Amino acid sequence: MSEDEILLNVKNLHAYYPSRKGLIKAVRDVSFTVKSGECLGVLGESGCGKSSMALSLVGLFNRMAKFAAGAAKSPGLLKEFEKEEEERAGTRGQVVFRGHDLLQLDNEDLVKIRGKEISMIPQGLTHALNPQYSVGMQTGEPLEIHDENVRLLGMKKKVLDFLDLVRLADSETRYIMDPGSFSGGEAQRILIAMALISGPYLVIADEPTSALDVTIQRQIMNVLQMIKEDFDVSIILISHDAGVIAELSDRVAVMYAGRMMEIGAAVQMFHHPSHPYTMGLMSSFPTIAMMRMRAGGKRPTLRGIRGEPPDMTELPSGCPFHPRCDYCIDICKTEFPEFREVETDHWVSCHRYEDL
Ligand code: SF4
Repeated sequence: MSEDEILLNVKNLHAYYPSRKGLIKAVRDVSFTVKSGECLGVLGESGCGKSSMALSLVGLFNRMAKFAAGAAKSPGLLKEFEKEEEERAGTRGQVVFRGHDLLQLDNEDLVKIRGKEISMIPQGLTHALNPQYSVGMQTGEPLEIHDENVRLLGMKKKVLDFLDLVRLADSETRYIMDPGSFSGGEAQRILIAMALISGPYLVIADEPTSALDVTIQRQIMNVLQMIKEDFDVSIILISHDAGVIAELSDRVAVMYAGRMMEIGAAVQMFHHPSHPYTMGLMSSFPTIAMMRMRAGGKRPTLRGIRGEPPDMTELPSGCPFHPRCDYCIDICKTEFPEFREVETDHWVSCHRYEDL
């Protein structure tokens, strides 16, 4: 991948936050790139660090970590966090976006980028919109913050254009309504319009369909597909659902226990995964052949992955997947495998990559 194609270059990113049980190492030494115009899918089980990574990319992780420290309400933990914060500021590593390391910027400079050049479609629809302000006002907020020349009438027209674009029905009438009168699917459309309205280079969509029923999920996926095709924008699509990732992603990054396990072209990851965890994930979803067997009265079984994801405060030594891995050998229990490029644009972290 040539340097000039790369929009975002994340190097050795770490992100930790405290909990009552101890320090959660949500993101550990994660590196990846996002090219201009591509969709990178980030796939992994719930709690593997995907959302913490997303918050780190937009400079919001430290704020979340401070809330977590307050919630932990343990003087010992707070002390530990303060020490961590002093030494590591919650996040460390590099997040280079269009030539700037976002982890080095102060809040004033970050605010200029967040919502304008990078925007986020957050997880948790019910909390993402402010019930006190109209939908029109909220959708136009990024313009108000980032464009000092914007005028009220111009803003309203642009907001309506974007609400129409994400296919929000009867947008003109509903411009002045508060979010409480919108369904989950409509709220998600509004959040997508809000993420796009300032013309960002990168949109991070964190589980954009997880709180929706199946038919609405389909509609939201169609909107995201349209954005991918019609806008000159890169997307990081985060999901625990391989179906969602498969539909939109050009490349796929697989995370487990805060670490990156494998990154490669989507076709390769779904048809010829190389890492034992990716193989397990892919065997956890029903295939069309299985559906046909079922229709024929047979009972196919999904292989899946044995065991449970680890407690993030007590992570296994060595490769974090080793307690669940059928290919584990002695070195896996003590040494974390290097994350290396095994062929062009294909990265794997496994001691046994060559044998599998
Ligand atoms: Fe399995 Fe070892 Fe590879 Fe980890 S490093 S995935 S334990 S074979």
